[in-house]
Amino acid sequence: MASFRTRLAPSPTGSMHLGNARTFLVAWWMARHAGGEVVLRLEDLDRARVKPGLVERVIEDLRWLGLDWDEGPILQSERLALYDAALRRLIEAGHCYPCVCSRKEIRAAVNAPHAEDEESVYPGTCRGRFASWEEARAFKGRPPACRFRVPQGEIAFDDRFLGRVALDPARAGGDFVVRSVDGAFAYQLAVTVDDAAMGISEVVRGDDLVASTPRQILLYHALGHRAPRFTHLPLVLDESGARMAKRRGDTEIAFLRARGIDPREVIALLARSSGFPEAGAAVSAADLIERFDLARLPREAARLSPLPWAAAR
Ligand code: GLU
Repeated sequence: MASFRTRLAPSPTGSMHLGNARTFLVAWWMARHAGGEVVLRLEDLDRARVKPGLVERVIEDLRWLGLDWDEGPILQSERLALYDAALRRLIEAGHCYPCVCSRKEIRAAVNAPHAEDEESVYPGTCRGRFASWEEARAFKGRPPACRFRVPQGEIAFDDRFLGRVALDPARAGGDFVVRSVDGAFAYQLAVTVDDAAMGISEVVRGDDLVASTPRQILLYHALGHRAPRFTHLPLVLDESGARMAKRRGDTEIAFLRARGIDPREVIALLARSSGFPEAGAAVSAADLIERFDLARLPREAARLSPLPWAAAR
């Protein structure tokens, strides 16, 4: 197994946009530059939002951008037994407790909590409330959710891009859900179990997920695994300074693809904001592997104008 092994982990719940694409591109450059491996993992646990065709579309988008992978696509929806086994271990070791709090609150846990999804600190209502899982079940009339007990104190890690990061997960979110009332495994659990099982040594993702990292480190330790290295990348904003969101059609990769745009022009646009000011008008992702250097990536969020030429054609 290569010493640098990362994953591209899109959620096929919407269209891939220029922001996601840049994060994947940088992760791919890092891996390929290091002679490492890339795993493609589709985070499709939110059954309500994973619409038919979206998995195929994400794969097609990545291929169109010129990215490749050594393993996958692997679908999280096919790995439920693995998450269940990990959950049992956590429960047996006393890391989790049953929670009967509202469904809405718990439901949110299945998706990665990006920075714009405001999170309140769980007040600990069910911590120590029930003597047993059976008691919680009887109270609720159906299986309770499962919450991870977060200890007090900071968790620190060395981020390849941000440097030393120290966060206190007890103050940011508190005890978090690992399996919801409807039986769905939460993002935090699935991502940790998968990264460990797949031998991922490097997690590269947007810095809007940085608050999840201490929780995942707690899960790694509780499950007896070593945490990988993390790289949190600045986000991509549109020309008005708003986060490149999935709402805007003209920033979607599938839209650009359908308009017959040359993907090398899209790569060049992303590369110019990723430490390659000299990228020019068109270049392939593979052409830049050798010269890639994370130290050249601008510290601030990238601002991209949606491609003026996309509308003009
Ligand atoms: N699938 C997650 C998302 O698209 C990313 C998870 C991760 O990289 O840890 O938000």
